Amino acid sequence: MEKIQKLKREKKAVILAHNYQRPEIQDIADFLGDSLELSLCATQTDAKIIVFCGVNFMAETAAILNPEKKVLIPDRNALCPMASMLPADLVRLYRRKYPRAKIALYINSLAEAKAYCDAVCTSANAAEIIDRVNSDVVLFDPDVNLAKYAEKHTGKKIVPIPPVGFCPVHKLFSRGEVLRIKRMHPDAVLMVHPECNPDVCEVANFVGSTSKMLRKTLTSKVNKFIIATEVGYLYRLEKNRKDATFMPAYKDAVCVNMKLHTLEKVYTCLKNERYRVTLPPRILDMARKPVEFMLKTS
Ligand code: SF4
Repeated sequence: MEKIQKLKREKKAVILAHNYQRPEIQDIADFLGDSLELSLCATQTDAKIIVFCGVNFMAETAAILNPEKKVLIPDRNALCPMASMLPADLVRLYRRKYPRAKIALYINSLAEAKAYCDAVCTSANAAEIIDRVNSDVVLFDPDVNLAKYAEKHTGKKIVPIPPVGFCPVHKLFSRGEVLRIKRMHPDAVLMVHPECNPDVCEVANFVGSTSKMLRKTLTSKVNKFIIATEVGYLYRLEKNRKDATFMPAYKDAVCVNMKLHTLEKVYTCLKNERYRVTLPPRILDMARKPVEFMLKTS
């Protein structure tokens, strides 16, 4: 950790880490957050190098927003399976099929897919962004559960493309299991991420992104929470509310892709300035517009 700090100072680098990272990575991060917070942070840093401890689409978003900076990812196999469910060809196909509808994509999509959409959103601002997209019919993807959540909160017709996109980690939570834990701890608040199935969201006391969950726990008088999102997030919640108990709604909800980054890999990444996240200039330009639309409207 000391070596990483030294290299960071020498190279004027900054480490951005997602909330699902390993505890030791969270501890060395200059900034920790969800996709929206990390995107905003990427626009505000004056560092020359951004080391992004998250999955591919997050590092790509940092590169889209910072074409003049070096964006590095410690392990280039950190890919999001949900983002891979939406190839750019499919976005173009639906564009032709629904010529009058607008396309909003979840930030959990590849840059080449984002390049063909009108707006990007995160789980923290999906309803607000879709509300502001100038169309009553909105094509949305890759997460069908977030599409249903947005439809419920906006009253717009949402067409999911493809109609089966999902996060394999948030799919692991079942209504039966969360109800069982809730019955065992009736005084606890059940917080659910909107990528979970709608029947799990229905029984939650609170549905929201990780940043919204954190804000809620910091202002709540309750000191017991059941958390239905990737288990790595409990470390951050516990650090911020030492007086509270946080229980995972499913202890094996682990995103193996997020966990690929280790301290050793962060050190090597900084030392050798690899692996650089690069995108074709045309994709960079096309994808910047919908990402900036989101940041301006957030
Ligand atoms: S938690 Fe789900 S959406 Fe997030 S990176 Fe992992 S697989 Fe992708």
